[in-house]
Formats: sequence, structure tokens, C-alpha cells
Amino acid sequence: MNQHSYNPIAIINSLVNITSHTEKNVLEKSLLIALNELIPTKNIRLFDVQKTGEKHEISLLAFSANGVVSSSQNEDKPHPVSDELAAAFESISQHGDSVSIANADNSGWQIIYPSFDANNEIFMILVQSCDKPTTQEQKTIHGIFKVYANHVALIEKTQRDKLTGLFNRETLDDEITKILVNADDDLFDINVNDARRHSGKPRNWLAVVDIDHFKSINDDYGHLYGDEVLILTSRLMTSGCMRDDDLVYRYGGEEFVVLIKAVSSIDAMNAFDRLRKIIAEHDFPQVGNVTISIGFVEVLGQQTASNVIGEADGALYYAKHNGRNQTQSYHELVEQGVLVVSEQVASEDVELF
Ligand code: GH3
Ligand code: MG
Ligand code: MG
Repeated sequence: MNQHSYNPIAIINSLVNITSHTEKNVLEKSLLIALNELIPTKNIRLFDVQKTGEKHEISLLAFSANGVVSSSQNEDKPHPVSDELAAAFESISQHGDSVSIANADNSGWQIIYPSFDANNEIFMILVQSCDKPTTQEQKTIHGIFKVYANHVALIEKTQRDKLTGLFNRETLDDEITKILVNADDDLFDINVNDARRHSGKPRNWLAVVDIDHFKSINDDYGHLYGDEVLILTSRLMTSGCMRDDDLVYRYGGEEFVVLIKAVSSIDAMNAFDRLRKIIAEHDFPQVGNVTISIGFVEVLGQQTASNVIGEADGALYYAKHNGRNQTQSYHELVEQGVLVVSEQVASEDVELF
């Protein structure tokens, strides 16, 4: 064991470094880099943990092998845990502490370190492959991991809306900007026809969703029922999204933004209109019928995130003035000459409908 590893100043410095970051991928890597520096080990993997029913699913977030740290860039889809890991989770849930598992071939140990969310459910694990570590080493790693997990939980809390649990608008601009910046160059090549240009690749679409006549729900049934409609609408839209990576945000009072991937404008229209139908067909307790209006646009080529939202909002405005309870496409309305292409002036704040 390297005495130097447990130098308290080195530990404090690594905590300072980890907690100076807020971006998810950077944070994950900074945790593994810090652990590697303090406690050289064969490899460490960081997993996200989800519980569906009684079963746990994990997906790899980042890993380090022989001192090289890599991020999985969200490519690892959630998969069921092995029987061995399920047994480890059982023991962790009872004792709340890390669990050591000896490899069957005597090649060393796997140490599973848990972190818990506010409901006392495991929400991340760190898996260290090593020769059997000392208690002090295990406590050091677990302590750093707990600080990391507290920091992540705090960041996630600031990104969520309190009432609905959806993402709030805090991270939306970054998400749109990421899509705009990462757009494939092919998509802008006018020499390539539309079908070939897109050739089955998922494209990004953004919808602004607004509940129809929401004010009268508050007026007729009271604010609490209004809140209940917001919560139910959020849940119905989230579960109505077809892909795991579709995102639903609460943009403001009774306004939502939905970001989805779809291969064509027809598919995008169908996906968004499905959400509209799900809401229209739902029987809301006491309130009964609720409808939403939707305006959407492809996230491609706009100068700023607010331009994207502004265009979708233009289509929403049209939907509101033409009967509500409908889904309108910005591109189609522009093609029909109903909407005029907006000047792409970089406005900081778009006033939503
Ligand atoms: P439209 O179909 O044109 O969208 O009509 P609307 O009544 O939905 O639109 P308006 O913008 O006039 O009203 C929105 C209302 O949403 C007003 C506001 O009091 C209410 N609201 C905003 N945030 C909340 C909230 O968190 N809870 C509740 N219950 N009401 C909210
Ligand atoms: Mg409304
Ligand atoms: Mg509104």
C-alpha cells in the first residue's frame, strides 16, 4: 500500500477538483481520475442504476482501465444485472455498505460501492477490480464516492422542476445548442437530395406544447386540480415518448418542450400528435377532458437555441388561433405561406405564447 495515497491534502484536493465540475461527462471522468491518482487499481467502472419493479438495471457511465479513463458517452443501454450483482444489491440494501466479491478464478476481487438517492434506493455504483484492498482503502474510495454522489444529486435537483419532476428549462438551451453544433455536415449539403441526405438517420425535432384553456381549469376547479393536471400531463407525455432518449421539459407554467428523434418530418408529426391524442383521450379526475396544442420544428441550422424555440412557438401560435387541440409543423406552415420565416435575430428571451 502506498502511504502517500492517503495524504489528506491529496484527498481534499481531489474532492475540490471533482466538485468544481457540473457537466455530467466531465464529472464522471474527474471522479475516476481522482480515484486512480489516489489509489492505483486494476480498473474501476461507474454505473448508473435504475430500479424497475423489484429488478435492477445498470448502464456503464465511465470506466478506467490501467489508468486510462474513458466516458461511455451514454452509449451503454440499461441491462439487467447478473445474479451475483443482484445478490450484492440485496446485501447492500440491508447493510448500506460496500460489498466485496472474490472472483471465481482467484484472479482478485470486485468491490461494489453504492450510493443512495433521497428515497434510499441505489442510484449509482462504483465497481473496483483489484487485489483485496485494505479497509482504509475501501473507506477512502467510498467516502470520495459519497461526496461525488451528493454533488451529482444536488446538480440533478437544480435541473428538475419541483412540481412535475421534469427537467426545467435550465439545461434546455445547452441541449439544443449541443444538437445545433453537432449537426452532421451532410445535412446542409444542397447537392444531396433530401432522402439521401437523411437516409434513415434520426433527426432532432423540438415541440413547444401548451395546455389549452388552462386558466379556466384553475378558475373552475381550483389551483390544486390545476397542479394535478400539470403532473398528469407530464407523466402522460413522458411515458408516451417512444425512445428512451426523448426528453420532456417543463418550460414554464403550463408550457412544455419535448425533444425527440425521428427520421422524417412525417414521423415527427406522428410522434408529437400521438402525445396530443394521449392527452385528449385521457379522463382527468374531476376535470375530465384536457387538450394541448403543439408547434414543432426540426433542430437544424438555426443560429441559436432561442431561434429554435421561437420557430416552434410560431407554429404553436398558429395552432392556438386555428382551433387548438392540434399539432402544427413550422416548416409546413412556412411552405404553405401561412408563416413567414423569422429573421434570425439572436434574441435572448423568446416570449412564449
Ligand atoms: P390558451 O389555450 O390560450 O393557452 O389559454 P390558457 O388559459 O392555457 O393560457 P393563459 O396563458 O391565459 O393561462 C395560463 C395559466 O396557467 C395562468 C396561470 O395562473 C396558470 N399557471 C401557471 N403556472 C401554474 C402552476 O404551477 N400551477 C397552476 N395550477 N397553474 C399555473
Ligand atoms: Mg395555455
Ligand atoms: Mg401558455
